[in-house]
Amino acid sequence: MINIVIFGAPGVGKGTQAQLLAEKYDFLHISTGELLRQEVALGSPLGMRAKAIMERGDLVGDDIVVPLLSRSLETRSTLPDPDAATDPWDRERNGEPHRPEGCIIDGFPRTVSQAQTLEFLFSRLHRRIDLVVAIDVQRDELVRRIHERAAISGRADDTEEVIRHRLQQYDEKTQPVLDYYRVSGLLVSVDASGEIPDTNQRLCRVIDACLNHKQQ
Ligand code: ADP
Repeated sequence: MINIVIFGAPGVGKGTQAQLLAEKYDFLHISTGELLRQEVALGSPLGMRAKAIMERGDLVGDDIVVPLLSRSLETRSTLPDPDAATDPWDRERNGEPHRPEGCIIDGFPRTVSQAQTLEFLFSRLHRRIDLVVAIDVQRDELVRRIHERAAISGRADDTEEVIRHRLQQYDEKTQPVLDYYRVSGLLVSVDASGEIPDTNQRLCRVIDACLNHKQQ
């Protein structure tokens, strides 16, 4: 089991990369942005509170996002008989009980306080974060990618003004999380300026090294 946080500015492509890695390594993929968008689409009480905040590009409060993440991490097994499962992450795949090889979290933490919360949530599950990969591109390329995505995403927060605000929020609140993880020795940076498969290969090399290290 290996637990990874994938970290990066809005538009860097962390959702795409997290999805590719989850498929390749059989990880549970948890995206707080997706969890929030699902709640908004459902019109749940949490979703209704999150909607306007997300539309203006602000970070939603921990009282909204932490319960969603915690539920997703601690959810009971989806095996037909959850009581038979020994681990809450156990799943059914092709009719067989199946345990994923780990988990990859994207979109969380976005503040230093959320980084501390994540440690607490993992410790409750007797797990810990093994690796934080920060994917990085130059700001002008980032803005180009967000605009490209905006043309197809239909996301309410992909408009010019909101994009600027999201990047500002990232610089102010999320960037300091990098220093937090650098100090703890978990951080590895990966250049994401190339095409999707190039970045994916770089990420795989980092993950393979971490897996090898864990097996020793
Ligand atoms: P992006 O990385 O492009 O900003 P996400 O899908 O990760 O996209 O997040 C979309 C929005 O969801 C954010 O702008 C924010 O409003 C909200 N959000 C997601 N994760 C968090 C979080 N950990 N804390 C607070 N707000 C969050």
